[in-house]
Amino acid sequence: MNGKASQPGSSAASSDDSIRQESSQEQNFQNIVADAPLGIFQSTTDRLVMVNPALARLFGCSSPEEMLEEGAAPARFFVRPADRAEIIKAVTETDGFVQRVVEYRRRDGSTFTGNLHMRRKPDATGKTNLVEGFVEDITGRLRLEKQLRQAQKMEAIGQLAGGIAHDFNNILAAILMHLGVLQEDSRVQPDLKEALGEIEEQTQRAANLTRQLLLFSRRQVPTPEVLNVNVLLKDLLKMLRRLLGEKIRVTFRRAEEEAWVRGDAGMLEQVVMNLCINARDAMLQGGELAISVATVEARAENMRRNPDARPGRFVRLSVADNGCGMDEAVLKRLFEPFFTTKEPGKGTGLGLATVYGIIKQHEGWVDVESTIGLGSVFRVHLPAVIEPAKMEANPLMSETIRGGTETILLVEDERSVRQTVALCLRKLGYAVLEADNGSEALGLWKQNGDRIQLLISDMVMPGELTGQELAEGLLQQKPSLKAILSSGYSAELAENGSVTHPALSFLAKPYRAALLAKTVRLLLDEDQKSPGT
Ligand code: ADP
Ligand code: MG
Repeated sequence: MNGKASQPGSSAASSDDSIRQESSQEQNFQNIVADAPLGIFQSTTDRLVMVNPALARLFGCSSPEEMLEEGAAPARFFVRPADRAEIIKAVTETDGFVQRVVEYRRRDGSTFTGNLHMRRKPDATGKTNLVEGFVEDITGRLRLEKQLRQAQKMEAIGQLAGGIAHDFNNILAAILMHLGVLQEDSRVQPDLKEALGEIEEQTQRAANLTRQLLLFSRRQVPTPEVLNVNVLLKDLLKMLRRLLGEKIRVTFRRAEEEAWVRGDAGMLEQVVMNLCINARDAMLQGGELAISVATVEARAENMRRNPDARPGRFVRLSVADNGCGMDEAVLKRLFEPFFTTKEPGKGTGLGLATVYGIIKQHEGWVDVESTIGLGSVFRVHLPAVIEPAKMEANPLMSETIRGGTETILLVEDERSVRQTVALCLRKLGYAVLEADNGSEALGLWKQNGDRIQLLISDMVMPGELTGQELAEGLLQQKPSLKAILSSGYSAELAENGSVTHPALSFLAKPYRAALLAKTVRLLLDEDQKSPGT
């Protein structure tokens, strides 16, 4: 030994170097373990031997020493001790790493989900009881995956609901059409007409329901009309009281003057419902819900807080509760889709996101005020419009039903709808050519194009051509043609602004016979009017 140590020579020097080099490499490697973002450990079957700082942090200890000091029987970190027994067994039966997803418990008792890779420490004798492994906290990733799955589920439900509602809408369209035909028929006795009126009312209710479904699936074509928010709410109140239950006292104060806005009644009802359901959830022990309407003048100096706000005359709809209230952190995020503080299965986090979307579409905005323990107020602002009676008379509202003798090309794949629309148009005196799809329509157009003055087509059809492509193609060939596209489906159409083509008009299904008749006449008469003006 001594002789060896004292032996001079270059070979000894170089072996010293290589030892130094090796040990600095080892040091480097230890640094990686020490700095690794993953938890790394070695342990016997019942004692932790070595842990890196990341593992200590994961389990809520300030340092590896602290974690080891605790005695560190590994089993205590497992929420289910049986998990550990199973993994140890798997590790002893396998040569490489085994991987498991494990529920771990931190020092403070809280839990997280870890992705664990573990193996038996390789050892020439094969007798080792040492294991080693890596732990990664995947709680956040799992939460994101769950949110994604939830979002996909909502999307699927939306598609399903939208699909059913679309078909259902077609059926309702046919019923409303037939009703229209019967109501115009002089042979029907007045008492029977009354019954028909009742049927029509019920059918309209069914149409409202499908509208809600389409709204949920975001496939609905908004049908804006001028409406009085006082009346809208009064009608909704009965349903709301039933929905909210007896523990909640609902009061309603209407605006002193009439509160006219331009909007989609179904969508605005949805807004009120979502706000009221949230208020109910905030008052589980019961409480008071105050709904009120007012017309207000919004001033520039009062709107620094909300970027969507603007000056002008607005109808303000307030929903106030004296429930649990919200803190700053919730207030900051409450309109985010999927943001919810409710337990899984109770909240979707879509209620206020829908409210926000609808109000934005109506060119309004929402303000929120809330105090923890005292309650919350949501204030929806919608642009006020002038009372309908004072507006220019709307030809769609006032004209009596008139027919004509022009030729109309009708394209609709739903046979029952097509037959009823055709029947209705023929009763008004028009000549109707019927096609089941785009290519059939082109065939009819070749033969009769010169006498066809109006195209009525479904937006969504089987085959290669959509209703819009068909209409645009024919309009190019014959600029004097008029076209009506109809659908219960495509919000995109309204959004794309493609209906602004001057010769194109749009009808949301289901429509009444009277509305169809008026729209047809309005379009066909346009050219006679416009040269004079
Ligand atoms: P969800 O009701 O499904 O949770 P929302 O988008 O409707 O989703 O609401 C998001 C969150 O905003 C709720 O989870 C709740 O924390 C909070 N919130 C909404 N309205 C109220 C209210 N009136 N009082 C207290 N908290 C509310
Ligand atoms: Mg909600």
